[in-house]
Amino acid sequence: MNIILLGPQGSGKGTQAALLNARVGVVQVASGDVLRAAIQSASPLGLKAKSYYDVGELVPDELVIGLLIEAIDQVPAGTDVLLDGFPRTVAQARALDAALAERGSTIDKVVELRLPLDVAKERLSGRLVCRTCGAVYNERTRPPRVPRVCDIDGGPLYQRADDYPEAIEKRLKIWERENDALVGYYESRGILERVDAQGSPEDVSRDLLAIFAPSDASA
Ligand SMILES: [Zn+2]
Repeated sequence: MNIILLGPQGSGKGTQAALLNARVGVVQVASGDVLRAAIQSASPLGLKAKSYYDVGELVPDELVIGLLIEAIDQVPAGTDVLLDGFPRTVAQARALDAALAERGSTIDKVVELRLPLDVAKERLSGRLVCRTCGAVYNERTRPPRVPRVCDIDGGPLYQRADDYPEAIEKRLKIWERENDALVGYYESRGILERVDAQGSPEDVSRDLLAIFAPSDASA
């Protein structure tokens, strides 16, 4: 099965993907990781992607889709694939559908982690980064032992400009507009599932398992 995981920053997509991998063997294919790995490996598509990166341009959708399909091909047959980070827009979703259809494949399911934007904003605004080693903390969910001091090296913790409330709000608003359209697209195809992402990671994971491995969850 090819599954897309949608949800705002702060909805815990990475954590949930890792839990699904550990519990039912779902393999996460995250577009950001795939791009970075391709560029490092200097494969033909990777070199092409790098030429856009180097001049600060967005990597075109067709190239990202090509890389994603290569990554999906490397997952053993019969293993569920969880796409994360792509598509972000309806145009990308259509292009991905067309590329998969050419190969006799399809997106089987789309799971949306639902989180009110004010909760996402609150979760994200507590992020702190160590100036010395780059370790990431969260005032609310993963506080350092001493306020604003890194546990590892005692370096000062600071809030990145990206994590200022105004920057977060702007980012989430843009995300919301694109996401609403994307969700509508998949809903009209009848493959959309929704999971409430407000609970603890364990609660969310239980709800996801009910979708990914219904028999395991009821056992
Ligand atoms: Zn540090």
